[in-house]
Amino acid sequence: SGESALLEVDGLGTGYGDLRVVWDVSLTVRRGEITVILGRNGAGKTTTLRAITGLNKVFTGAVRFQGKDMTTVKPHLRVRRGMSYVQEGKRVFHGQTIEQNLLLGGYTRKLRRRELRGELDRIYSLFPILGEKRRLLAGSMSGGQQQMLAIGQALMAHPSLLILDEPSGGLAPVIVQEVMAKVQELKETGIGVLLVEQAVEASFAIADWVTVLDMGRDVLSSPASAVSDVSVLQDAYFGSS
Ligand code: ATP
Repeated sequence: SGESALLEVDGLGTGYGDLRVVWDVSLTVRRGEITVILGRNGAGKTTTLRAITGLNKVFTGAVRFQGKDMTTVKPHLRVRRGMSYVQEGKRVFHGQTIEQNLLLGGYTRKLRRRELRGELDRIYSLFPILGEKRRLLAGSMSGGQQQMLAIGQALMAHPSLLILDEPSGGLAPVIVQEVMAKVQELKETGIGVLLVEQAVEASFAIADWVTVLDMGRDVLSSPASAVSDVSVLQDAYFGSS
């Protein structure tokens, strides 16, 4: 098809200062699809996300978003152009209400009052629990609800690409399922999702594409439908970890 992917990462090399930890990683996220990045601890998943969002310098390769080269664009401008990032272990402001936390997520956009209301309503319809509790302090919510709030905050920037680093972190399995179901619902609104996960089965279940990183390189990149069984991924790449 002629339509370009939402996000195209091509031959990415990145790291910290002069230290290279990622080599020649390529991946794609399409509109209305979920790409999952799997890999054991230290494989370079977070570092890859940090380069895609502009927090780490790109040593080699390119990051294209909506057909435009983003490789050297500043992080806040990437957010403004529709790339939203929820970092691993993202904490919401416990002493602020749920609604105040969401409003903070919208600060990059100069919205009028009525538009802000519309954005909040959009997020409350996706996450009814946030609407019900909007006047309560964020710190009063469970871990899973706080993760939903962190995602809601990112959605206030009205992204076309949502990047999530281990949203399942520290959550009980049943709550992980809930978070994944929400991510699935989000992609059905037409946005693309790039998801880094340790929860292999739960994330594979909602994945359209799977990229596996090992020691800073991509060792598998495939439509999820072409991976016969999740145990193939587990045995091949996580068996000895
Ligand atoms: P995890 O699930 O543990 O976060 P990951 O796949 O996200 O794993 P990264 O966090 O990207 O892995 O780490 C990749 C490599 O980069 C590791 O060897 C790590 O030690 C190194 N690294 C991470 N952060 C820094 C940093 N700030 N400075 C230098 N090296 C770092």
